[in-house]
Amino acid sequence: MKNLPAFNEALQKLISSPSISSTHENWDQGNEDIINLLSSWFETLGFSISIQKVPNTRNKFNMLAKLGSGEGGLLLAGHSDTVPFDENKWQSNPLSVTEKDNKFFGLGTCDMKGFFAFIVQACKQLDAKQLNKPLYVLATADEETTMAGARFFSQTQDIKPDVAIIGEPTNLAPVVMHKGHMSHRIIVEGQSGHSSKPSLGVNAIEIMYQVIGTLLSLKNLLANNYQNTAFDVTSPTLNLGAIKGGDNANRICGHCELDIDMRSLPGMTDNELISCLTEALKPLAEKYPGRITIDELHPSSPSFEQTLPSEFIETAEHLSGHKCCAVNYATEAPFIQTLGCQTIVMGPGSIDQAHQPNEFLSFSEIKKTDTLLINMITKYCINAN
Ligand SMILES: [Zn+2]
Repeated sequence: MKNLPAFNEALQKLISSPSISSTHENWDQGNEDIINLLSSWFETLGFSISIQKVPNTRNKFNMLAKLGSGEGGLLLAGHSDTVPFDENKWQSNPLSVTEKDNKFFGLGTCDMKGFFAFIVQACKQLDAKQLNKPLYVLATADEETTMAGARFFSQTQDIKPDVAIIGEPTNLAPVVMHKGHMSHRIIVEGQSGHSSKPSLGVNAIEIMYQVIGTLLSLKNLLANNYQNTAFDVTSPTLNLGAIKGGDNANRICGHCELDIDMRSLPGMTDNELISCLTEALKPLAEKYPGRITIDELHPSSPSFEQTLPSEFIETAEHLSGHKCCAVNYATEAPFIQTLGCQTIVMGPGSIDQAHQPNEFLSFSEIKKTDTLLINMITKYCINAN
């Protein structure tokens, strides 16, 4: 088709359109260029395009492209952003594709701009007139930080595809389960004073010491009470990640903060896990009224599970040649699932290469991914009735 790049060229253009997401303002970039690039390709392929600005972001957009009409169909989804990079650890320019050792090196090759190059490639072989049900392509913003794009999309859309595939790097294995993720800051407000007169102050570090003891007991309680053997870490986790408090040896510490992260199992809501935390800290909160608060550091990502048995999972297992599995990292799947579609995560490349210097996608993924996408589109859009 005219004006449509070959696979390598599409990948090159996607990688060299930087769209880094970061909570640090000096790293964070808009994604307008890559959204426009994708829109122009899918428009040429006959899709109708809608672009939505994602609120509370630094100029970020989602793109939804639709080919064909009617209800149901297949949604292919991914995020348009990447993580930042550590330039001096890369052996090539991260913002350009370098082909070496039968691999494409570049930031986002596997996580996950490459997936869009595969979709474009597959769609070139399609005739819109063949479709009985629609094919959707979704590119989201800010997956690597807040998941603001997928969150907003799921709240504002009324499309209802039958099935959805999120093309995160899973070596093409269908992922049907992952944990949730949330981060909180526990703040202890004490009362500073001269260290020679302890009775005049309230030492925030001493209270935090008791908070930590409580959290370690909670960690054991979670491990003992909740298990899912589909995961290599079979229980919910609680990590003490960062602590700061006080300023001088001769002052009573007036303020102490502890950042923790918790990962829930499927079937456990965010609220359930947060209640476990607040219940555990309740005796201390009563002992020190008004001194202990819990703040959310960023919006939580729910856990995800596509329930079995599912014809869609069986199809994905059959067409990919891989058994379905669980992973430890979080994705946009729980948000996409709220559209009402059966949802899996399945894409080319390995998570082991994601968020790493010298990220790559192997040439060996090309044929497999192309065939898998064509087969999925054929099943859910062309032969569907
Ligand atoms: Zn990703």
